[in-house]
Amino acid sequence: MTPSGAGAPAEPFAAAPPAEPPERLLGRLADPALRRVAERSLAGERLSFEDGLVLFRSPDLLGVGALANHERERRHGNRGYYNVNRYLNPTNLCWVDCGLCAWARKPGVAGGYTMAIEEAVREAAAGWHDGITELHVVGGLHPSLPYEYYPGLLRALRARFPGVHIKAWTMVELDWFARVGKKDLVETIRELKGSGMDSCPGGGAEIFAKRVRDVICTNKIDGERWLEIARLCHLEGVKTNVTMLYGSIETDEERVDHLLRIRGLQDETKGFLGFVPLAFHPDGTPFAHLPATSGTLDLRVIAAARLLLDNVEHVKAYWVQIGEKFAPVALRFGADDLVGTVTEETITHAAGATTEAGLSRLEMERLIRSAGREPFERDAYYERVVRDEGGRVVRANRHDFVPVSSATPAPAAPHSPAPLDPALASS
Ligand code: SF4
Repeated sequence: MTPSGAGAPAEPFAAAPPAEPPERLLGRLADPALRRVAERSLAGERLSFEDGLVLFRSPDLLGVGALANHERERRHGNRGYYNVNRYLNPTNLCWVDCGLCAWARKPGVAGGYTMAIEEAVREAAAGWHDGITELHVVGGLHPSLPYEYYPGLLRALRARFPGVHIKAWTMVELDWFARVGKKDLVETIRELKGSGMDSCPGGGAEIFAKRVRDVICTNKIDGERWLEIARLCHLEGVKTNVTMLYGSIETDEERVDHLLRIRGLQDETKGFLGFVPLAFHPDGTPFAHLPATSGTLDLRVIAAARLLLDNVEHVKAYWVQIGEKFAPVALRFGADDLVGTVTEETITHAAGATTEAGLSRLEMERLIRSAGREPFERDAYYERVVRDEGGRVVRANRHDFVPVSSATPAPAAPHSPAPLDPALASS
């Protein structure tokens, strides 16, 4: 695999059905309050907090969805993005004890595990049924792993999988690593970036409002700290995603507040790659008495986010959480990206998700086509992944992947040419 500098040239959108003319869209909105929001949105005006509440409360859910779909098609045409990724959770040991979490274990409790670095690298290479282009690495806040484990794991992954984008660790984990290493955050981010951390996932944001955090994740960093660490990442050139966990005890006001705080930071840094709504799964948590989210709430959150987050390019529908049957519908309610194949998802499954633990590339494409969208396999920069006829990755993440037979031995430097790992060659 050879780093080759510039990204792929921008491609024109695939032929898209024309977005519904604004007059016709306005004409079929049944709710006068929603029509007023729609007029502002279609005129390109920024929506307010009160507009956000209308989006969450209007009885005309299909109207909210149509408005979000209009905006989504304006930005992305008919594309339905996805990527081929693999999850790696190096440890599920965590001292934080969030009420929302069915996955983590306290030390000494059955089911806890921590992978040695070599073991984590082996795990990352296992079970691929397509050539992946991204590793998604998150874990618990381990009470006793030394700081050096974290940059060490990144260096090992980078050496083994050059060219694969490493999206590693949430703002919550970065805060913990800095505390473990007795370093400041900027120093920590720089060291991890230098070791192979290309971007960060958006988990741990939950709902920024203190009232909610005090109940569902009492010991986790507060919302202000989460946003401050995201700001530092962005200023250090590390893009991140951002999430919102909805469907526990939050109010509509707290959802809108969360989304507008994201929008505020994005105005400042432009560092969020995409927004990922996460549906709360109560099974196995102290909130098991709460109902799972409804399909209408799932769609409404996606649509409201698309309209309120006017400065975030991508709104995702995480098929693992909302289900394979429902995810394609979301591509008509404002979402443009079904996330990834997510080989070996475990976190949501610990809380009762009944979806597959991973989908193949072809299955992802079938989901997207079922929504009438055109599948677009993206890399970390939303550029098209190029594969050969056998499905092997030829180009991704601004790197050219060379065939195994012509690979050259790797110099020691990270991101340098290296023999292609057989696991990178698609089946
Ligand atoms: S949500 Fe994250 S921080 Fe909270 S207990 Fe689970 S792994 Fe730990």
